[in-house]
Amino acid sequence: MPKNVMIKEYAEILASVRSYVEDQLELGFFEEPITNQNQASTNSLFNLTESGGIKTYNSMDDIRKAVQECRACPLHKTRTNVVFGTGDENTKLVFVGEAPGADEDQQGKPFVGKAGQKLTQIINAIDLSRDDVYITNVLKCRPPNNRNPLPYEIEACEPYLIAQLKLIKPKIICALGTLAAQTLLRTEQPISRLRGRFHTYQGIRLMPTYHPAFLLRSPKFKKDVWEDVKKIKAEYDKE
Ligand code: URA
Repeated sequence: MPKNVMIKEYAEILASVRSYVEDQLELGFFEEPITNQNQASTNSLFNLTESGGIKTYNSMDDIRKAVQECRACPLHKTRTNVVFGTGDENTKLVFVGEAPGADEDQQGKPFVGKAGQKLTQIINAIDLSRDDVYITNVLKCRPPNNRNPLPYEIEACEPYLIAQLKLIKPKIICALGTLAAQTLLRTEQPISRLRGRFHTYQGIRLMPTYHPAFLLRSPKFKKDVWEDVKKIKAEYDKE
């Protein structure tokens, strides 16, 4: 077989193995979960006040400035832009993803790549637009090569998310994918078991669902996401 054909085949095999592994990770197989223990071990001081509480900020601009100046983990060295969050800061509904990817890092906005287009479709499916909701991530800086966020990066960054939520005061959070759901809920349960019902995070009702990037690879899970977002919309429309 000619060398270039072999290389192409090898690349295709690698791509399909990668996609398989990513799907298994999203479904909660063979990943070391983020547990209370490994989070607590570094309960360390980033963004904490002296009494151990999360620092409070007076405005979103103050939080944004703090993130831009943040040196709490090494991701500031490799990012192009901070990806802080976009949308309505007075909304009832906040979507929280994992971390910025390459497109988001370039543009400084969350969910602007292919997964972002899928998220836009999901939001539109419940008769809302991206301007009606707020979209952000657990991590505000891109992990190099889209690797999974490390526990101490999450620990350094989560206080900014909590500060954002304190100002927005949403009624509902939608956690997108395994990492966001397991991190915020301090659980190792797979997303397949967490999704479909409301949990609580920071006193706010939280619905986990599959990550839009996972849906791009595994469209058969769309109906589950549809069930989840219908529940979110029912809650959103109440009162
Ligand atoms: N995936 C995420 O989790 N967040 C983004 O902003 C983009 C892709």
